[in-house]
Amino acid sequence: MIHPKTCLKYINNEVGYGVFATEFIPRGTITYVKDALEIEISPKDYQQHTTEMQAVIEKYSYIDEKGYRILSWDFSKYINHCCNCNSMSTGYGFEIAIRDIFPGEEITDEYGIFNLVESIPLQCNQQNCRKYVHPNDFDALYAQWDKWLVNALACFQQVEQPLLPLMDAPTQSELSNYLNQQAAYKSVYALRFKKQEVSN
Ligand SMILES: [Zn+2]
Repeated sequence: MIHPKTCLKYINNEVGYGVFATEFIPRGTITYVKDALEIEISPKDYQQHTTEMQAVIEKYSYIDEKGYRILSWDFSKYINHCCNCNSMSTGYGFEIAIRDIFPGEEITDEYGIFNLVESIPLQCNQQNCRKYVHPNDFDALYAQWDKWLVNALACFQQVEQPLLPLMDAPTQSELSNYLNQQAAYKSVYALRFKKQEVSN
């Protein structure tokens, strides 16, 4: 589920839709949580869909560490990539604002964390745009992502967290152990899907 202080807006024909903040969302706020209604598509189920349906699923889902495609039931699935994203997945599976997000600003993500099957071209128009997101961006960039995530998590307990009650209990406990310094940090690399672990 996407943060409640957001809306869906049509951007243009090229990009399609995007998700925008309607109020200030400070760094450290959960922007997306994998709630109990998210649709989980196993690799086996994915193979059983038609080519046309597979293309739709591929466009709107992300692949988790088990190789499952997660399709959001709400408009979380319209969050676009940006090479200077303001929101990012953590190793715990939820997404967090890695900097302050202002009203009217588009909420953007790092697609390199989504275990892409193929490279996808980008149109984020940033000066440092990588032009493509590649499947191996995960390996090349996760150390930098972890730095931003650790800084964002340091603000976690100082900001409002409307999505926290929707997070599953094991994740809440894992996160709270880290925040209370009873467990080590879980790198975003924990979300990297390794093919030999595939389960149906
Ligand atoms: Zn870019």
